[in-house]
Amino acid sequence: MHEIFLKLHKEGFLEERTTKQPYCEKHDSFLADRFVEGTCPKCGYDDARGDQCDKCGSLLDPFDLINPKCKVDGAAPVPRDTAHIFLRLDKLQGEIQTWFEKAVHDGSWSANGVAITKAWLDRGLEGRSITRDLKWGVSVPLPGYEKKVIYVWFDACIGYPSITANYTDEWEKWWKNPDEVKLYQFLGKDNVPFHTVIFPGSVLGTKDKWTKLHTLSTTEYLNYENTKFSKSRGVGVFGNNAQEIGIPASVWRYYLIANRPETGDTQFEWQNFVLANNSELLANFGNFVNRVVKFVNAKLDGTVPEFSASYADDSFDFPGWIADVNKLLGEYIEEMESVKLKASLAKFMEISSKGNLLLQYRLDNANLVAHPERTKTVLGLALNLASLLASLSSPFVPAAAESIVRQLNSKLEFIPETWDPEVLKPGHKIGKAEYLFTRIDDKKVAEWKEQFGGTQESRAAEVEAKRKKQEEKDRKKAKKAAGRQAPAPGAADGAPLETAATADIKTLPIREVLKPEEK
Ligand SMILES: [Zn+2]
Ligand SMILES: [Zn+2]
Repeated sequence: MHEIFLKLHKEGFLEERTTKQPYCEKHDSFLADRFVEGTCPKCGYDDARGDQCDKCGSLLDPFDLINPKCKVDGAAPVPRDTAHIFLRLDKLQGEIQTWFEKAVHDGSWSANGVAITKAWLDRGLEGRSITRDLKWGVSVPLPGYEKKVIYVWFDACIGYPSITANYTDEWEKWWKNPDEVKLYQFLGKDNVPFHTVIFPGSVLGTKDKWTKLHTLSTTEYLNYENTKFSKSRGVGVFGNNAQEIGIPASVWRYYLIANRPETGDTQFEWQNFVLANNSELLANFGNFVNRVVKFVNAKLDGTVPEFSASYADDSFDFPGWIADVNKLLGEYIEEMESVKLKASLAKFMEISSKGNLLLQYRLDNANLVAHPERTKTVLGLALNLASLLASLSSPFVPAAAESIVRQLNSKLEFIPETWDPEVLKPGHKIGKAEYLFTRIDDKKVAEWKEQFGGTQESRAAEVEAKRKKQEEKDRKKAKKAAGRQAPAPGAADGAPLETAATADIKTLPIREVLKPEEK
């Protein structure tokens, strides 16, 4: 972080400017942008923050807000002068533009990522303040800035190489190796400019050879049951809830990617969540693998039977079925290469369906007795398809992939360009069956909806109580901070300072402590 900062300084892309920042006179402190609240000037939303409006998504300046208020005590902030460092994005515009035009082309960015970046560049970049009057944050490596820190605008993405550098001394092999490393980034659309303008601009300005964004995969918004997810209002299900309700990570991973808002907003709906588990993961994928592994264990002593991939008869188009799987495999690979995760996951499910199609009417005891060669072919192909499904599912539901590999007593194979159903050969001993997924009771839908949606009133009451509690806490904190930073004039020599008196009470004779109070 400091390295990038100082190089930008050396190259002339940083400059000091005196700006007006919101200052709360009530609790004697500069306010971070998000600590100013008020009405959004763009859309009229009355709960916008000084940095951003959650309703319309506009990035705001705290002074843009109508009726701005200090979040801590509700006082109206006043503008006060303070010196800050600005990143001269205007001077970097040309370089960013050139890089952007090539990167978009090379890395097949998603449409909204391109549109948002283009809008920023077309509007013309401006210098942006990258320091703040805050206590918490990365220090500014310049004299006179001891009481300020670097702001999240600038340092959030630089955190990626910083984290890597904390992990290994060889981080530059990754982050300063644009010829051999392709950087893929996945984010919500509200984070686009940080990754496509500010981060690349910052590293371009150092004049060093940094690895920069190659493919950008951005999403629209995931909403919750026709409303917005809101942690503060307690609406929606979040990471900690997901852990608490005990549904395996694979199910979450599957559902969230199957509903990834790649081209438009999508909904999180419990009904569909349960459906995805019960009729896709369990009925399609899980049951296919389970049926085959169980049958081979029960009837063939857990051994891959003699079979040939070129088997053909009149009852079913075996070669055509293999060709179909390969066609879908090709499509899966193509979607994956262009980072269309949702589409590739759908292709995966289609391939799994092909497995069930193969087993239909052909896998039972009667068939094994009446048509042994055919039934053994079905099993040989199905076991090999299960091995392929393990590989194809591993980027999405790795735990399921590992389970399949255990059940097949095999290893995770590389995804082939063309599927050759002969990885598991006749005579190979497979392992024991495991359940990949279990059924979720439909009754859970109502229960979870109640638990994570709540009624308007109960939710409102709960939020109000929480807000009051937080306000009280913030008030106390602010009061304490104000007392520490700037004691009211006269307090030190006039009226006794509560804090000093109580702190010294053990060392002072009681009379002296009491004295001022007697006055
Ligand atoms: Zn205040
Ligand atoms: Zn707004």
